[in-house]
Amino acid sequence: MTHVAVIGGGITGLSAAYYLERDYPEVTIDLFEADDELGGRIRTDMSHNVVIEGGPDSFLAAKPDLVKLCEEVGLGPHLIGTNPRARGAYIFWKNRFFPIPEGIQTGVPTNAKAVLISPLLSVPGKLALLKDFVVRVKKPSDEDQSLGHFLRRHFGNQLVERLAAPMLSGIFAGDIDQMSLKATFPHLLTAEEEARSVYIGSKRRKPPPASPFVKRYHSVFLTVDRGLQEIVLQVARNLRQTHIALSHSVEYIAPQPSGQWTVKTSSGSQLYDAVLVTTPAYVTARLLRFLSAPAQNILERVPYADLAVIGAAYDPSVVPIKTDKTGFLVPRGSGLAMTAVTWVSSKWHYPHADPLFVLRAFYGRFGENILKYDDDQLIHLFRRELEQSMHIQADPRYLRVFRIPQGMPQYLVGHMDRMALLQREFANFPHLFVAGAFDGGVGLPDRVKQARETVEIMGHQLNLLPQEIPSETLT
Ligand SMILES: Cc1cc2nc3c(=O)[nH]c(=O)nc-3n(C[C@H](O)[C@H](O)[C@H](O)COP(=O)(O)OP(=O)(O)OC[C@H]3O[C@@H](n4cnc5c(N)ncnc54)[C@H](O)[C@@H]3O)c2cc1C
Repeated sequence: MTHVAVIGGGITGLSAAYYLERDYPEVTIDLFEADDELGGRIRTDMSHNVVIEGGPDSFLAAKPDLVKLCEEVGLGPHLIGTNPRARGAYIFWKNRFFPIPEGIQTGVPTNAKAVLISPLLSVPGKLALLKDFVVRVKKPSDEDQSLGHFLRRHFGNQLVERLAAPMLSGIFAGDIDQMSLKATFPHLLTAEEEARSVYIGSKRRKPPPASPFVKRYHSVFLTVDRGLQEIVLQVARNLRQTHIALSHSVEYIAPQPSGQWTVKTSSGSQLYDAVLVTTPAYVTARLLRFLSAPAQNILERVPYADLAVIGAAYDPSVVPIKTDKTGFLVPRGSGLAMTAVTWVSSKWHYPHADPLFVLRAFYGRFGENILKYDDDQLIHLFRRELEQSMHIQADPRYLRVFRIPQGMPQYLVGHMDRMALLQREFANFPHLFVAGAFDGGVGLPDRVKQARETVEIMGHQLNLLPQEIPSETLT
C-alpha cells in the first residue's frame, strides 16, 4: 500500500483524493482539513430554503474537468444552466443601469456597432477606441505587462474603467492595472502580434470548437440544483480509501532521509510516501519551511484580496426595478463600494428554492481593506447601497454575511516567471506535490484539472499501477 497525505479539503484537495482512489487502488489517503467542514472557498447556505452561495456560484461548462467529475459522482441530473431569459448584465454608472454592450470578450469589443451606440461611453470615450487601429505595437517581447496598461493603450481609459475593469477584475477581485496580462488573458497578446489591432485580432480568432457539455446542458455556466456545496459533499461521499481529518491544521511538512515525508499536525506526526499540498500560497510557505529562501519569498508574496459576500432574500413585491438580467457590475468611481450584485433568482431557477427574490452583493478588491468593517457596518453599507442602486428599502426576509479574508490570489505582473521558478524548486523534492489557485487558474474547473494532472504525475513518480477505467467515464 502507498500512503499519501493530501493537505487541504477544498475542491483541489478533494478532487485529488477522488482521482487517486479512482485511478490507483493500492493507495490509501489521509486528507487533512484545518476547518471543521470541507469545501474551502465553496460555501452554500440553504438554511432558509433559498440558495445563497458564499463563494463561487457556477463554473464554465466548456472546461470539461469539473462537469466530468460531477457526472462521475452522480450529479449529472442535478446540473442546471443559467436562466436563458436573463442574458447579460448591467453596468451601474452615475446612478443608472446601462446594459453591457454585446460582443465584449475579456474586456475587448468585438462588435463595434454595439459599443458605438452604447450610452455608457461618451463621444471622447468612443473616439479613443480608434487608438486600437493606430497604436504603435511594442515589439513582441517576453516582458509581462499589466492588463490595464495593454487595454488602455489600445482602447483608451474610458472603456477600461467603465467596462473592462469591472468585467475582468470581477473574476479575480483584482486591480486591472496590476494584473498580469500573460497570466490572465495571454491570447490578447497573440491578437496584438497577429493583427496589430486587438479588435481585428479578436474578431479573427476562431471560436473554440463547441463544447459537448455546453450542448448537453444548454448553458455556458453551470451550477448544482442545491448549490455548489453538493459537489463537495458528493465527492466526499464517493471516497472509500480516504480518511478525512477535519479540524486538523497541518503545522509543517518535512522530508525524511528515507525518502518519505513527515506531516505534523496538532495531534502528532505521521510518515507518508507522498504529500500533496493544496493550501493557499501563504499557508504553503509556512508548511514547506525547507524550501530555499527565494522560493519561500515567492510563495509569501503572492498577495490575496480580502472579500465579503452578502446574500439576501426579499419578498419579490418589494423590488421596484426590472431584474431581467443576471445583475450588475460597479466600476470604481461610481459612488458605491460594492463591486457587483448578482440577481440570483433571475440568473438561476433553483428548483427546490422558495420563490423569493435573492441577490448577492460583492465587496472587496485587491488593495482595499473591506474586512475592517464588522458585520453590522457591512450590512449598513449594503442596505444603503442597495437603496441607492435598486431602490430597495424593505427589510430582507433573510440576510447572511460571508467574510472571506485572503479570499482570492492575485496574479500580478511577472506572475508566470515567479511560478516557473517555484515549479523548478518543487522539482527538487521527489514525491512532494503542490497545487492551488495561486498557480494554474482560480476557476473551479482549473482546480479540478490541476488536481487530476497532479495525481497522474504522482502515479508515474511513485510507479503506481493504474486501474482500468471504464471507457464511458472518459468521454
Ligand atoms: C467570493 C468568491 C467567488 C468565486 N466565484 C467563482 C465562480 O463563480 N466560479 C469559479 O469557477 N471560481 C470562483 N471562485 C474561485 C474558486 O472558488 C477558488 O479558486 C477555489 O474554490 C479554490 O479551491 P482550492 O481547493 O484550491 O482552495 P481552497 O478552497 O482555499 O481550499 C484550501 C483548503 O485548505 C485548508 N487549509 C488551509 N490551511 C490549512 C492547514 N494548515 N492544514 C490543513 N488545511 C488547511 C483551508 O481551510 C481550505 O479548506 C470564487 C472565489 C471566491 C472567494
